[in-house]
Amino acid sequence: MTTSNKDLKICNKGHKYYKSTDCPTCPICEQERKPENGFLALLSAPARRALENNGITSLQQLSKYSEKDILTFHGMGPASLPKLRSALKEEGLSFRD
Ligand SMILES: [Zn+2]
Repeated sequence: MTTSNKDLKICNKGHKYYKSTDCPTCPICEQERKPENGFLALLSAPARRALENNGITSLQQLSKYSEKDILTFHGMGPASLPKLRSALKEEGLSFRD
């Protein structure tokens, strides 16, 4: 064995990156996806599904809803609201009143 078992991988966009696992996720693509979908990664799986099931996959879409609306989604809990609020704030957005 060598001191490093990381393999050089190239994703289908041509990014080169090193990964030691079989995980095919390219960190550069992940980074590029962030502004749009990053906030979904902050949430628990049920909360994330609750938004996706209601067609909310971006902060812009999220900002069209009030906190009350969001809480009526099946799977969404109050614990997720602070995360959503701060994610919106970072983009200069907020929940609808
Ligand atoms: Zn990539």
